[in-house]
Amino acid sequence: MSDNTGILKRFLKKVFLIDLIQGLTITFPYTFSKTITLRYPDEEKWIPYQRFRGLHTLNKNKEGKELCVGCELCQKACPTQCITVIPGEDKTGKGISDRIGYRWEINLLRCMYCGLCEDACPTEALKLGREYELASYSMLRQIRTKEELLNPQPIPVEIEGGVIVKARLEADDKGIKVVPDLSTQKRWW
Ligand code: SF4
Ligand code: SF4
Repeated sequence: MSDNTGILKRFLKKVFLIDLIQGLTITFPYTFSKTITLRYPDEEKWIPYQRFRGLHTLNKNKEGKELCVGCELCQKACPTQCITVIPGEDKTGKGISDRIGYRWEINLLRCMYCGLCEDACPTEALKLGREYELASYSMLRQIRTKEELLNPQPIPVEIEGGVIVKARLEADDKGIKVVPDLSTQKRWW
């Protein structure tokens, strides 16, 4: 008897398209909601929040002197051993002390962006920045040197983040880059 009831129920569900109607009650309202699709990377780009942990930057002070003193604490703190620091005497006055990171290198293939290196840095020379487009055609490109990381961040610190801006895709033999136009900001919600 109960088997017959089950068969009848399934039959009626099929006849009256109950499953279809249940599905549509969930999906149909989205037809009228605001689209959140991002036209990335050709036209738009998301700017991460200030607390985002992306590509590392090595910073300078207001006088343009390198803050890194080559203490190697970041190298020691890194759980995946992807930072290499070779300290050296600062004969040129580039740094804030008589010792600088003569060679400073990071292997991004091993980095898990935990931020422990940033926490260990006593001079705030090392920060995890907001660059996240790190794709490249060569694995060697994933090793970034001090000279590259000392370049100014493409996203200034005063930009709060969490916004969408216009962007332009640029690709060369090193990899891809999505160049933002920070003058046009909008929120997608
Ligand atoms: S973010 Fe973490 S894994 Fe990456 S270099 Fe720093 S300490 Fe190492
Ligand atoms: S980045 Fe900071 S922790 Fe690393 S060597 Fe330089 S000063 Fe030391």
